[in-house]
Amino acid sequence: MKPSHIEHIGIAVANLENAISLYEDVLGLKCYNIEEVTDQKVRTAFFMVGQTKIELLESTDPEGPIAKFIQKKGEGIHHIAFSVEKIEEKLMHAAKMGIKLIDSKPRKGAEGLDIAFLHPKSTSGVLIELCENKTHSTG
Ligand code: ZN
Repeated sequence: MKPSHIEHIGIAVANLENAISLYEDVLGLKCYNIEEVTDQKVRTAFFMVGQTKIELLESTDPEGPIAKFIQKKGEGIHHIAFSVEKIEEKLMHAAKMGIKLIDSKPRKGAEGLDIAFLHPKSTSGVLIELCENKTHSTG
């Protein structure tokens, strides 16, 4: 089963409020949810564009992964998330293909999704997130 769509694009920002203004005032999108994910040391803001979301990520900790990403590369696109079914099987498949996993098992991300990251060293420099919405999954 291939991914059904791009669930979201994650963008690392230095200041969440400034970035929200940009997406609202310049692009005319509406932020529908702001959520802190303590596990990942981020505050996130979500916008819907068709079936795909824009996920803005602001670090809540100078040692967090988003803070480190911005120190190294500056603000910008951080990851691309694909909506999949049977995320555990997808992870096992990726591991069998020799892909380095950041998460060998899914964990809870923003919006209650089960998420797991593949290591960008194995994926041409793109941090790929797999996510599954089990509450809406038809199995
Ligand atoms: Zn994400």
